Order: sequence, then C-alpha cells, then structure tokens
Amino acid sequence: MKNLVRVPAFVDLHVHFRDPGFPEKEDAFSGGRAAAAGGFAAVCMMPNTRPAIDSPETLTDADRRGRAAGIRVFAASAMTRAQEGDALVDFDAMDGADTACRALTGHGVCGISEDGKTLANDTLMEAVCASARRLGLPVMDHAEPETETIRRDIALAKKTGARFHIQHVSLAGSVALLRAAKAEGAPITCETAPHYFALTNEEPLRQGANAKMNPPLAAERDRLAIIEGLRDGTIDCIATDHAPHEPAAKALPFAEAANGIVGLETAFAVSYTMLVKGGYLSLADLVRLMSTRPAEIIGLAPPDDDYVLLDLETPYGIDAAAFLSKGRNTPFGGMRVYGRVMKTVCAGRAVYERRPC
Ligand SMILES: [Zn+2]
Repeated sequence: MKNLVRVPAFVDLHVHFRDPGFPEKEDAFSGGRAAAAGGFAAVCMMPNTRPAIDSPETLTDADRRGRAAGIRVFAASAMTRAQEGDALVDFDAMDGADTACRALTGHGVCGISEDGKTLANDTLMEAVCASARRLGLPVMDHAEPETETIRRDIALAKKTGARFHIQHVSLAGSVALLRAAKAEGAPITCETAPHYFALTNEEPLRQGANAKMNPPLAAERDRLAIIEGLRDGTIDCIATDHAPHEPAAKALPFAEAANGIVGLETAFAVSYTMLVKGGYLSLADLVRLMSTRPAEIIGLAPPDDDYVLLDLETPYGIDAAAFLSKGRNTPFGGMRVYGRVMKTVCAGRAVYERRPC
C-alpha cells in the first residue's frame, strides 16, 4: 500500500461546462466527473452556455444540472443579457437565487463575468462594478486583450471599490501590473492556469490546435514571470480554464480551430510536477493555490469533509483517452508526471476513486 497524502479538495474558479447548449463538447455530468477525477470538489462555471447564464431561470437550470454531477458546481453570472454587451443582467436576482453556491457562500453566483467577451463599454462596466461592490461579488474578468484590460480593471477597482478577479494571467507585463496594484492596496486578485507555467509559444508548433487557447501560450520569459508571480503571492490561485471541444472543432487549420484545452484531469499533476518537483514551491504552497485561496476568493469556507487523497510517489504518463471529460483536447498527453489523484471526497461522499490497475 502506497503512502497517500490527504489535502483539502481543490477549488477551480474557472471552468467551461458547455451545458446547456453544447453537449457534444461536455455536459455538467461529464464535467463534474472530470472535476472529481482531478481532485476538485467545487468549480465555478463560466456563463457562456447557450442560453447564457443571465437570468434566475438559466441560473437555477445550470444549478440543477450541476447538482447531478456530485460535486459543487457554482456559476458566474453574465454581465449583460445573452452576453450581447447591451442590457445589464439583474444581479440582485442572480445573487438571491436559491443555488448550491448560495447555500455555501451566501451568494447565488460565485461572481460576475462576461467571459471571453470583455465588456468594453465603460459606463456599463462601472454599473457592473457598483452592483458587484454592493452585493459583495467579485468581478471575474477574462481580460482580453490582457495587459490593456488589466490596466483598465485596476483603475476601475481603485475607482469603484469593486473587487476584481483577473482570470488566466499569462504575460510578464500583466504580472508586473498586478504586483504594483496589489502593493498599492487595490482590491484585486488573479489566477493563472497550468499551461502558462508549463508550456510556451513553441508548443503550437509541435502540437497544433491542441495547444491553442486564449490568451495564447507566450514566451519563456512570460512563463518564468508567471512562476515568480506564484512564488511571491502576486498570483493568488491556479484555475484550469477547462474548455472541452469535440475533435472536429480542433481538426481545422490552426487559425480556424477552436480555442481552449481541457484541464481538470491534468491540473494537479502538471502543477505538482512543474512547481513542487521543479523546486519552486512546497506542497503546502500548491494546496493554498488550488484549494484554500480560491475558496476564499468566492467566500467558500471549504468543508472538512471535502478532501483528496494523492499518490505523490509514483510517476505516470498522462493518457487523454482515459479522461472522464468528453474533451480530449490537451497538450499534456504523454507527459510524465507525479501527483496522481486516487480519491476525491465531497461532503463526506466519495465522488471519485481510482481503481487499482
Ligand atoms: Zn475561460
């Protein structure tokens, strides 16, 4: 019997579950199983489903689908109806909705996000900030294009007092901006994803569309700056931006292929291998980045009976064909890693257990 290590279950602030709307890519059930297999007991799904999560009706529908998954599936509210950038969502109604998120955090949604469609209209964005501040919800911004949008978001956070959470930071310049903003006390947190500290812009040359995502993989100096940001606390947490696609959406010329990669079933092992085995962080640091800090950002007090058992000793090769996600679109297939999730427990119930091979 191997020595297994028990740590608090992981919390992912950034997943795309495609449900409702794109069941060929993923649904709440397959996404939830993939999350459990990756050691996550709570995830925040982004609102770019079809229909978008922009009303109490679509929110409670997403919540109902999420409950079937066995883990805690929370949702972020869109900023505007149908993410069209015009009419603001009724954030009070979203915050008051009776969801699994509300039962654990006091908020119907885990945050407010326009997802990949950064809201450019300043007047609307200030109105979003005013509501977010009043309700105590984070504004989660995909920040595209990255550095320019982060600069705007920092200014808005300072001006309005709204709490911003910047998603998938990938560039050295962004880390520097966020480090300076935090030093000034701006109410801002941020995340990166494993691919931004594990891979560079050379990867698409080797792997084609399976290494295509937004923001794109960057240079080696950016990768190192992300690691430094994780080390010095500028970057608060690691999220996956789990973005499943069916093979046909990736089997296109690079420019036309869909953006995004799956990440739930590789996040811990890639992070552990690159950051802890790589000598940059301790296991306790990584648990803070993947469990405690993301939970804090959404006001979740992680229950003691949400935990994961890890085999940190036995190396293995990542096998995309064995994923429980419907998506196989990963640039990490075949990578030799440490940090296998053996069992995930949510609310005292085993939601994933690896069968002995
Ligand atoms: Zn995303």
